[in-house]
Amino acid sequence: MTVLDLFRLDGKVAVVTGGNRGIGKAIAIALAEAGASVVVAARDAERNDEAVAELSKIGPALAVSTDVTDRAALVAMRETVTAELGPIDVLVNNAGVGIHGESLTLDDDGWDRVMSTNLDAVWKASQVVGEQMVGRRTGSIVNVGSMSGMIINRPQWHAPYAVSKAGVHHLTKSLAAEWAPQGVRVNAIAPGYTKTEISDIDDPKWRHYWIDEVPMQRYAQASEIAPSALYLAADASSFVTGSVLVVDGGYTLW
Ligand code: NDP
Repeated sequence: MTVLDLFRLDGKVAVVTGGNRGIGKAIAIALAEAGASVVVAARDAERNDEAVAELSKIGPALAVSTDVTDRAALVAMRETVTAELGPIDVLVNNAGVGIHGESLTLDDDGWDRVMSTNLDAVWKASQVVGEQMVGRRTGSIVNVGSMSGMIINRPQWHAPYAVSKAGVHHLTKSLAAEWAPQGVRVNAIAPGYTKTEISDIDDPKWRHYWIDEVPMQRYAQASEIAPSALYLAADASSFVTGSVLVVDGGYTLW
């Protein structure tokens, strides 16, 4: 046994919400490469199938169309995964949405949409899958928070997004404390600016804020975020719970 064996997930079943593109897909690939059977749980069935076709070249993979805001869909997902692959060992709560807008003009729909996907769904999925994990006295939950849960981004305002991610960080700590005696670890990663569909990161008008102000002077590729999620999912982090691992090229240092 070497230290690298602690990063393996052979025989484990991992669910990645929003695993059909962006950071979630990169995490799904990393977990598959580490040996896990990986479930892509997102809404777009076509994109789920495309991601699973790619993952299947690495190992067992399954697409389960899931709207994470819907508790019944999450329960159905858990039951399908358990029947097809076995009980869930790793849950990555990655699905998320972002909106920009000034707080005096953002409407309640915008607030509700961000909260229901980014925070309420993390609560629901953690409860639904956590029930099974606590019952088995084993499991690792990795939440995708954000550096936006720790600082205030500029110049584009997004109060609901920032609040949702701060909530994810604190929910991570709350569940970690509660479930530690039952052998379930709960951690989060807090990525900085990362190139995916959620962000118009290459727009020159944001360059000053999104690149020049990052100590590393660049944004991340999704593949650079994924290894941190793998670390928290695997036994490599067996004594780590309630942590928020910042992966931001140094942005939150200023
Ligand atoms: P993308 O927009 O590329 O991907 C978002 C994913 O979430 C998609 O797979 C989408 O699938 C899924 N999703 C959205 N709503 C739901 C829903 N209701 N039910 C199930 N799945 C859903 O975003 P990123 O990869 O950039 O973001 C992933 C996570 O990383 C998010 O939580 C985001 O907040 C966070 N993050 C991103 C950063 C960045 O700079 N990109 C920085 C910090 C954090 P589908 O539409 O098919 O359901």
